[in-house]
Amino acid sequence: MKITEHLSNASSTLFSLEIIPPKKGDSIQNLFDQIDPLMEFKPPFIDVTYHREEYVYKEHANGLLEKRSIKKRPGTVGICAAIQNHYKVDAVPHIICGGFSIEETENALIDLNFLGIDNVLALRGDGIKSEPQFVPEKDGHEYASDLVNHLANMNKGEYLDEELQNAIPTNFCVGVAGYPEKHFEAPNMEFDLQWLKKKVDLGAEYIVTQMFFDNEKYFEFVDLCRSIGIKIPIIPGLKPFATKSQLTTLPKFFKIDVPTELEKDVTKCKDNKEVAELGIEWGIQQCKELVEKGAPVLHFYSMGKSDAIYRIARELF
Ligand code: FAD
Repeated sequence: MKITEHLSNASSTLFSLEIIPPKKGDSIQNLFDQIDPLMEFKPPFIDVTYHREEYVYKEHANGLLEKRSIKKRPGTVGICAAIQNHYKVDAVPHIICGGFSIEETENALIDLNFLGIDNVLALRGDGIKSEPQFVPEKDGHEYASDLVNHLANMNKGEYLDEELQNAIPTNFCVGVAGYPEKHFEAPNMEFDLQWLKKKVDLGAEYIVTQMFFDNEKYFEFVDLCRSIGIKIPIIPGLKPFATKSQLTTLPKFFKIDVPTELEKDVTKCKDNKEVAELGIEWGIQQCKELVEKGAPVLHFYSMGKSDAIYRIARELF
């Protein structure tokens, strides 16, 4: 079922989560063990992230270095199929532009369609570690909006092969990313929102936000979106704060702020056990306010851990 249908059928705020595929060589059972307890809160959908290749250098006996491309977490499409089979909930694959030609992207989307996957989160992706910024493939999509456009064409039965006639249209519900604290490359919020609006105008049907710890940032973002005519659901992305080191790693990797009050309280904690408890309490208060103010879904980034999410969700669902 489409995410938009889940949302319009819901009479109250829903619970959902995002998982990351296991590392190459790890068992899918570990992933199911993380998801199992969270099924108590009846997520109608589970997002599965996509992870780009990385380059590693292998030194040969003659001293020459060989550059190798490896994917440490392959399997997004397979994990989606496994989740749909195992839990009978909708799996939402994240599809990124980076590293793919448009032909490869289309072939992956055709696979997803055959697997009965109705939803896709369309993303640009980031540059790989060895690149200072995102570089699209020579014949790949440059922005998420290009991917949204591609999906919209397939939903009209228009594939890349112009000679195809009477092709069966796909019927994907397309989500996109939004940034309550602005995407880090955008010079200002207005600029960023203009491109978010473009994704919506091209066919995106819902937005999932980057994580935030200050609800005001989300509420302001929703107001700004509404003020420029973005009317689709805006799903807040949430993560329980868990360790002292996240005071620096979360701003570094996700380009978000940690509110002063949370930062001061985390600094006072004597160890990470205390931080984790504080993060759960902060998450509960955040979620209570989001539910009160009518957020459509509380969408949790699990990042391989489900205990804190369980404790927060237990207070709300
Ligand atoms: P875009 O919408 O293309 O925007 C990228 C930047 O370009 C923005 O600054 C925007 O303002 C600007 N821009 C957009 N269009 C144009 C244009 N036509 N001309 C000029 N500027 C433009 N990454 C992964 O690799 N795998 C994942 O699974 C993944 N999941 C994510 C899930 C969520 C909910 C979020 C919020 C992010 C996720 N990311 C993931 C990270 C995401 O790929 C990065 O944040 C990436 O840098 C931007 O992706 P985007 O889709 O927002 O890009």
